[in-house]
Amino acid sequence: MNTTRVSLAIAALITLSACASAPAPTPPPTPAGHAPLQDLGIQWVKTAAEYEAITQQVYRTAEAALPAYIADTSWSAMPGQRNAANLPPAVILDVDETVVSNVDFQLTFERPFANHKLDDWSSNYESRPIPGVKHFVDTARALGVTVFFVTNRPCEVIDGEDDACPQQGTTIDDIHEVGIAVEPEYVMLSGEQPGWDREKLVRRELIARTHRVIMLIGDDFGDFVPCARAKVVAPCSVPATRANRAAALKTYREYWGAGWYILPNPMHGSWTSVR
Ligand SMILES: [Mg+2]
Repeated sequence: MNTTRVSLAIAALITLSACASAPAPTPPPTPAGHAPLQDLGIQWVKTAAEYEAITQQVYRTAEAALPAYIADTSWSAMPGQRNAANLPPAVILDVDETVVSNVDFQLTFERPFANHKLDDWSSNYESRPIPGVKHFVDTARALGVTVFFVTNRPCEVIDGEDDACPQQGTTIDDIHEVGIAVEPEYVMLSGEQPGWDREKLVRRELIARTHRVIMLIGDDFGDFVPCARAKVVAPCSVPATRANRAAALKTYREYWGAGWYILPNPMHGSWTSVR
């Protein structure tokens, strides 16, 4: 061992003995937020042709299925919906990453996420559509299908404003900006009415009282399956886990691609809340 190596070995021993008696090192601070430019999920949505190919594929597949589901009055995409043959057909769409793309928000917002940050961003920038959605909605409506938008954007009072749900106006504007006209009664936000919490099942069931729900379209498991998130919200009684979500995937396997159409979202969602 030459002199340099001996010196290095001694230095390493000194360091080791110092560490042995010192308190556990403090972990490095969480980087200020997150590095969206290095986030493969965000980059994939922003730049990959594959992303748009999939969204077009999803909406084309759904669009092609519309006539058959309209004609078959025994069909419902809502598990448990019965006696709906005489109700008018409807489809339920989520909003974020289903109708409007928030990838540019994901690239730029200062972490951590807060609802008001998305609301501010949505108010200040023109929305971009998820490729394929406008053609799908136009076709569904032309065939006599009512289109509902059920979003977990929450109603939150803004200081100095009287509106109990200013986010509804922002959401409607966003939908208009992607070329889809819509009246407020068809846009249902979390917290807009008593009982409309983040568990979307409550709002889906309300729609199913007056319409035969022929399709669900969204980017999150919770847009389809009840009780998909870790946080327990009525009527759910147990937190979602990866295991029980995997079980639900099988329970409802006949709906995927046949009444239920899920869009890719590797950026955020209830999947990040479960273990
Ligand atoms: Mg969404």
